[in-house]
Amino acid sequence: MSTNLEKLLTVQDRDRKIRRLTREVTDIPARKQRIESRLEEHRRVLNQIHEEIKKKNLQAKEIEAEVAAAREKINKLRNQQFEVKSNDDYRSLEKQIAGVNGEISEFEDRELNVMEEIEELKKTAVLHEAELNKEQDMVSKEIESLDQRAKNLESEVEVLKKERESLVADVNPDWLSRYERILNHTGDYALVRIDTGVCGGCHMKLPPQVTHDARKADTMSLCNYCGRMLYYHG
Ligand SMILES: [Zn+2]
Repeated sequence: MSTNLEKLLTVQDRDRKIRRLTREVTDIPARKQRIESRLEEHRRVLNQIHEEIKKKNLQAKEIEAEVAAAREKINKLRNQQFEVKSNDDYRSLEKQIAGVNGEISEFEDRELNVMEEIEELKKTAVLHEAELNKEQDMVSKEIESLDQRAKNLESEVEVLKKERESLVADVNPDWLSRYERILNHTGDYALVRIDTGVCGGCHMKLPPQVTHDARKADTMSLCNYCGRMLYYHG
C-alpha cells in the first residue's frame, strides 16, 4: 500500500499532463488562424488584379464611346458636305473629317493597348489563382490534421481525468484538499522534492527540522516560504 504522498505524486503527474494537453487544445484555434492567414496575401494580390482589370475594362468602354462620338461627328460633317456650295467649304469640311479620323485611329491604338494590358492581367490572375489553390490545399490539410489533433488530445484528457478520479478516491481527503489548494495557488507543482536541503519549488534553503520531518513516512511537511508540499527522495 503506497503512502498518500506517493499517491499524490501520481495524481500530480496526471494533473500536469491534463494541464499540458488542455493548453495545447486551447492553442489550436490560434494556430489554425495563423495557418489560414497565409491565404490572405494571395487573396489580396488577386483582388488587386481583378480591380485593375475592372478599371481597364471601364477605360476601354470610355474609349469606345469616344470613337462612337467621333464617328457620329464624321457623319454630320459628311452630311454638311452635301449642302455646301463652294469648293473651299467642301475642302474645309474634308480637312475636319481627316482630323477626326486621325483622332479615331489614336483612340483605337489606345484601346488596343488597354486590351493588351487586360490580357496580361488576366494571365497574371490565372497564375495567382493556381498559387492560391495550391496554398489552399496545403492549408486545408494542415487545418484538418490540427482538428484531428484536437480531437485526440480531448479524448486523451478524458482518459486522464477518469484515471485521476479513481486515483484521488484513494487519497486521504485532507491531503487531497491541501494538495489541490496549493496546486491552484502555484499553478505548476503542489508537491516538490527536497534537493540538498533546498525546496524544489522556490529554491529556498529549508530549516533542518523541515527536512527532517519530510523524511518521515506519510508526514505532511510544507515549505516555510512557498507553502508547497515537500517530499524526500532518497
Ligand atoms: Zn518552497
